Amino acid sequence: MADFWLFAPEYYAELPACIGTLILALFFFGYGKTVVGQGRCFPLLAAAFFLASIHATLNLFGLMACSNGACFDPTVMALGGAFIQTTAALFVLFTVLYQQDSFQTLSASAKKKFVVICTLLVNVLVLGATHVLEYKLPIDGVFWVIALLFYGIELLWSNSPTDKRQTFGFGVSLIVLSCVDAVSVLRRPALAQLWTAADLEGIFPQFWGVESLAYAFVLLMFLVLNNRLVYARLETMKKQLETASQKTMVIMQTVPLPIMIFQLNEETLLFANATASQLFHIDMTTDVGHVKLRDYYTDPNTRKILLQALTTVGSVENLTILFKRRDTAEEFWVDMNACVINFNNELALYTICREVTQQKRQEEALYQDATIDPLTKCYNRRQLYHMISKEVTRSWRYNTPFCLIMVDIDHFKTINDTYGHSAGDEALKSLVLSLQSQLRSGDSVGRYGGEEFIVILSGTAARDAFMVAERLRKNIAKLKITTTDQRTFSMTVSMGLVESTHNQDVNQLIQYADKALYIAKNSGRNRTVVYDGTSQQQAAPTTDASAIDSDQQ
Ligand code: GH3
Ligand code: MG
Ligand code: MG
Repeated sequence: MADFWLFAPEYYAELPACIGTLILALFFFGYGKTVVGQGRCFPLLAAAFFLASIHATLNLFGLMACSNGACFDPTVMALGGAFIQTTAALFVLFTVLYQQDSFQTLSASAKKKFVVICTLLVNVLVLGATHVLEYKLPIDGVFWVIALLFYGIELLWSNSPTDKRQTFGFGVSLIVLSCVDAVSVLRRPALAQLWTAADLEGIFPQFWGVESLAYAFVLLMFLVLNNRLVYARLETMKKQLETASQKTMVIMQTVPLPIMIFQLNEETLLFANATASQLFHIDMTTDVGHVKLRDYYTDPNTRKILLQALTTVGSVENLTILFKRRDTAEEFWVDMNACVINFNNELALYTICREVTQQKRQEEALYQDATIDPLTKCYNRRQLYHMISKEVTRSWRYNTPFCLIMVDIDHFKTINDTYGHSAGDEALKSLVLSLQSQLRSGDSVGRYGGEEFIVILSGTAARDAFMVAERLRKNIAKLKITTTDQRTFSMTVSMGLVESTHNQDVNQLIQYADKALYIAKNSGRNRTVVYDGTSQQQAAPTTDASAIDSDQQ
């Protein structure tokens, strides 16, 4: 066995061809397919080199067997080898053919049929000729060399628009290969002779070194080419990226929505398009790197809300924010969409804003119309009900009391009759202003009817509420209203006070306050009556059932 492998180095003369062609086959099949040969038909070329490798391997084993004295049938060896080599050469030519536009237009089955018929036909011709010439001329080998040369030259002349360098280098490599294989072909008659004679002397040593070097060169060339190619691809990609980002910039600049990019941590401005610059009063030449998003917040909590949404959801959608301009302090509303992006290798906040100031103002106006009494500017009856029901809920949830005071101007009809309707209007306005100016921020006033108002005292029990009501009443009595004809008058009010209990609804509460007010009216006006819930009080409205003294004037 040891003798078999170590017989003599020259018997491994086909080894470089075996390995070289196999590596090339693998190269074209995998790596080369994606890097060198984009758009080219490399599976066929890989198959061609794989066949060439089988051919060389057969020759190698043939040599070894012969050197051990076990001779193969030269006809079988020569015809088998010729079949493989011819098919390999055809595959190289098919590779060229597959790149032709006219061939590409054929259907897949037509292409397959053509390839199979052509392979069989050419093989019959080559094998027939080989047999006729008694194996003296290796037609298949010559065919292989010509195919490689043809493809190599075709590549040199082809005008690949994308990778000219690659195509050129690839062409040169195939021409080199064809030259190397031409040397192999030259020695083939000797090989045929060998199989019959089993005489190896002086045939191969001069070839295998040359062949090894040639394959090493071709592979090296491919590797260098690939490196250059990868680099070139990187450069191209970089350029494409630059172009793409330039295009993106143009789009961002011209889009009619305000787009701004801020550095994430410091909120420093990195970019603002034309629309954003106009809206936020930004000068891109001086403000980049200086202006911060937080300079525009009217409420410092905006930043917290923004960051919270970004960290939990990853983006912000239609967050309505009130901003103010840095230079004019003018306020404006925007709906902001934001997300975190990588901008020039740093984390950035990408924002698209839509100005909604006009919309907000309209909304506000609509809200005012729906909730505010146009004459007195306190809440209207509808909003009053809404506020009381909210208070009922709150009182129930937190177990805290609240009070309603129903306020009615005494003899208002007389005021109207004496001083005129517009003077009456003024009296109503003054009354509301007086009430509002004396209430805490949690309390509210609404107009229940013509000259009837309800005050909601949040979180207040009857005893305290009574004191508040009395203070309000006394201060109203002190008001002096001047008419257009410079007459002055004052007014008094009667008040009905009720404290909420858990099981009362809005209408019930108002009804009780009204009952207390009724008693106040009937017991002399200009006083406050607290509803105590007793049946007598309801049954006997003419007596002051509150037992809390009223400040009679
Ligand atoms: P009382 O002490 O019993 O409450 O007597 P009063 O005259 O105030 O009561 P009444 O309900 O009879 O009269 C209310 C008057 O308020 C009648 C109405 O013309 C007047 N009024 C209602 N709304 C307005 C308003 O918006 N402006 C003016 N000027 N008067 C109004
Ligand atoms: Mg009245
Ligand atoms: Mg009234």
